[in-house]
Amino acid sequence: MNTQRQYLIYSISILITILNCIISVVEAKASSDHDLPYFESYHFNKAILNQKNQSSLRQLSLVAPPLSSSPDCTIWTKACSEELLKLAKPPENVEWLKGLRRRIHENPELAFEEFETSQLIRDELDKMEVFYRFPMAKTGIRAMIGTGGPPFVAIRADMDALPIQEAVEWEHKSKLAGKMHACGHDAHVTMLIGAAKILKRREHHLKGTVVLLFQPAEEAGNGAKRMINDGALENVEAIFAVHVLHDHPTAVLGSRPGPLLAGCGFFRAVISGKEGRAGNPHRSVDPVLAASAAVISLQGIVSREANPLDSQVVSVTSFKGGDNLDMIPDTVILGGTFRAFSNTSFYQLLQRIEEVIVEQAGVFRCSATVDFFEKEYTIYPPTVNDERMYEHVRKVAIDLVGPTNFRVVPPMMGAEDFAFYSQVIPAAFFYIGIMNETLGSIHVGHSPYFMIDEDILPIGAAAHAAIAERYLIEYG
Ligand SMILES: [Zn+2]
Ligand SMILES: [Zn+2]
Repeated sequence: MNTQRQYLIYSISILITILNCIISVVEAKASSDHDLPYFESYHFNKAILNQKNQSSLRQLSLVAPPLSSSPDCTIWTKACSEELLKLAKPPENVEWLKGLRRRIHENPELAFEEFETSQLIRDELDKMEVFYRFPMAKTGIRAMIGTGGPPFVAIRADMDALPIQEAVEWEHKSKLAGKMHACGHDAHVTMLIGAAKILKRREHHLKGTVVLLFQPAEEAGNGAKRMINDGALENVEAIFAVHVLHDHPTAVLGSRPGPLLAGCGFFRAVISGKEGRAGNPHRSVDPVLAASAAVISLQGIVSREANPLDSQVVSVTSFKGGDNLDMIPDTVILGGTFRAFSNTSFYQLLQRIEEVIVEQAGVFRCSATVDFFEKEYTIYPPTVNDERMYEHVRKVAIDLVGPTNFRVVPPMMGAEDFAFYSQVIPAAFFYIGIMNETLGSIHVGHSPYFMIDEDILPIGAAAHAAIAERYLIEYG
């Protein structure tokens, strides 16, 4: 009887062990079904692309599990910056970034033609299961990572190349004749994709939503404006962007508070009079004299009306009248450019250029019209860094690359269409150095010899991610 009882208990325990095994196999199968293979998750993300409801972001995004050793980052510390660099710098990540940049560099696309570049970005976002809105401004993308709720902070990259024939002979030279990424926008896109990967990995830490803007047509001047019109800055309270700079050694970051880049505009005036024989000037209305007076008076705007400490330029660069030496022409067309470092000065210049030309034409009985090409958007306002946002960039940069690798840069006369964002919300634009004499990356942007040092890619990605994540903690 005792033996029988022992046998029964023994049999039951074996049965329980077998049952446990079966249960754990079934559980393992169920959990592996939740870990969607790449192909299935890709289609899942494709399906959510059609949904434009931003509030659904939290529900739809697949949040990566916390990294076991990662700092909490409720309060930002240097350990958080180091964590971001740790995510950016592994060799396989750097190789992935270089690969992306080289693919974009080989296939440069001009303003509003960035179809393949945009597709490449969306493919990467799909793989990461990052939610985005597309299209905006024709080829632009607005991706979001985080809670889906406020605060919203934006980081931006431009996608367009230039109509320049690349003169650098290297393995990944532009495959398209007459087109080249000669301003580093291929690197800008890559660093923003790199930031998306880091931020997605840290999505559980984000105290709001990071908006990643991939915009077309920076060089054409209206990409940013069209992105804004299409809702790029919806709910966004601050925006940041980086540009590569050949003046500074690799990965040195730089910026300045207040005016950073000049506003740049062009004008063309048509001054109309009445044609007549030069020997009988009283029978004509002379636009040459009127235009000449206008050119002289235009020089008085900066020299007599502008504060000497507020740098401004008005240059007349074109003057075309008749070609018959014995005739007073019907019209004269003159034109030029103007620059200023504040919005007030910039728009004041625009207004005064028109007034001076029209009034001077009137003095000599002519009429005049002035075109500032605003429809073509070849007008760039000044890029003015918000003091607080600049300070934020400075803090993040010093934490990431150390105080000796951050520089306060002087204002520059170049222009940037990031200015359009900075007119709407607090913004900061900063630089990342690419100068490496050994590599030959020493040429100014828009040169056919322009090159970048790809070692900036992980640093730039980490800088973007840190600026955004830390903003949500400290300013949100
Ligand atoms: Zn450029
Ligand atoms: Zn550029």
